[in-house]
Amino acid sequence: MLPRSYEDKHVTIMGLGRLGGGVAAARYLASQGAHVVVTDLRSSHELDASLRQLNDDGCDLTCYLGGHPDAAFEKCELLVVNPAVRPGNKIVERCRNRGVAITSEIELFVARNPAFTIAVTGSNGKSTTCQLIYDLLRENIDPARGIRVGGNIGQSLLPDLPSIRSEDIVVLELSSFQLHQLEDTGICPDVAVITGLSPNHLDWHPDLEHYVSAKQVISASQKATDGVVLPDDLNDWPIRGRCLRFGLSDSGEDGVFIEDGAIVIRTDDVESAERLSVNSTLQGDHNLKNLAAAVAAVQLVVNDTLQLQPAIQHFGGLPHRMRTVAQCHGRRFVDDSASTTPESTIAALKSLSSGCVLIAGGGDKGVDLVPLGKQIHRYTDRLVAIGATAAVLTESAMAGVSEEQELTAIKTTNFVTAFEHAVELTRPGDIVLLSPGCSSHDWFPDFQERGRAFARLAGEWCEAQKKIR
Ligand code: ADP
Repeated sequence: MLPRSYEDKHVTIMGLGRLGGGVAAARYLASQGAHVVVTDLRSSHELDASLRQLNDDGCDLTCYLGGHPDAAFEKCELLVVNPAVRPGNKIVERCRNRGVAITSEIELFVARNPAFTIAVTGSNGKSTTCQLIYDLLRENIDPARGIRVGGNIGQSLLPDLPSIRSEDIVVLELSSFQLHQLEDTGICPDVAVITGLSPNHLDWHPDLEHYVSAKQVISASQKATDGVVLPDDLNDWPIRGRCLRFGLSDSGEDGVFIEDGAIVIRTDDVESAERLSVNSTLQGDHNLKNLAAAVAAVQLVVNDTLQLQPAIQHFGGLPHRMRTVAQCHGRRFVDDSASTTPESTIAALKSLSSGCVLIAGGGDKGVDLVPLGKQIHRYTDRLVAIGATAAVLTESAMAGVSEEQELTAIKTTNFVTAFEHAVELTRPGDIVLLSPGCSSHDWFPDFQERGRAFARLAGEWCEAQKKIR
């Protein structure tokens, strides 16, 4: 339970982090008159960018870095826990047993957010769906209503709280970690969107059941008047509100279905079908599903015939999701570094129409990669494996091929060598696809840095080709 006021409260932020949530929570609570202590296992050097943001603000707070000493928790009345902290953490449990209120950056926001809220979760496609919802809302709601997008997409909305009004709309991306933190808070979005469900983050969740029940928090406290958007193949999901399904074949249910280049929208109040023209950023069945989910969410807000085409045609996509970052000498380099699950790598491979060399692998999230490895030969005959999972990927990829099939699978120990191997394996007309299907945290600080490294190497290779010619 959060206090009514943070004035003079002793608050500890456990895990400042590098993604902005810790900084936002510290700034917000300091601005509300709390005495803020920040602690993180990382050193001040590793947290340089976050610390600079706090210093620039002139925030008056105490920092304990490179560990979580007892002193950081001595006076603590409210503990703000970073979503990366695993369930059952001993320090958190000790504070809880002492009567300290436990919270998170996302709860601080949700508890005071006055706006109509569309919350989005799922194993894949959350950020793309949030962006599509934003673009569709802009075309379909009164421009006087403000739209904010934040949460797990990479931006805390806490700094926006003072200016968010009840008539505005918040589109909130929620990870399973954040939803776990929101358990027991009664979070009740006006519309909850689930993009899809497959095993993920099993290095954090004790088991699949824990992961699924964290995801279900998004709609567990909804009322009959709220809306929920679910994939047509997701059964066993407790439904409390008005449900719209989405998918790629019209099941006849209420929902949004994209089939044979046409979109069907069916609700109690609206039934429409129109031809759909999508640009290349929405290439691939996975993106059509994201689009269908986004349209369903917006339909639950607008309840009238929607204007779809302008937003869909101008959709620009998001960085590090199937982005062409260089093209030369008959090769195209596609950065899909945001792919951190096997499903997203398969989705990427399926969406390509020309031959490719796949660069895949990375940090181990406890997800079984053998099924991914075994399928790779269906989509490409060349794999360059990177990171901590390189061995399991190459071995399972080789195990997946039959005697008549050919597959070159190379295990590498650094990213530059991986890139060089990938280029050597190309033929004119090929794509070099970075779609790791794994986290970036073994070789890179984050997936953005991994994508930038790929784009840099691709750019340099293209420059070098110009000089040779
Ligand atoms: P998330 O926010 O859930 O990580 P993103 O929209 O950021 O999802 O996309 C991350 C990766 O997943 C990208 O590689 C993207 O191409 C892929 N992707 C997007 N939507 C889907 C989907 N519905 N199913 C499988 N992969 C997807």
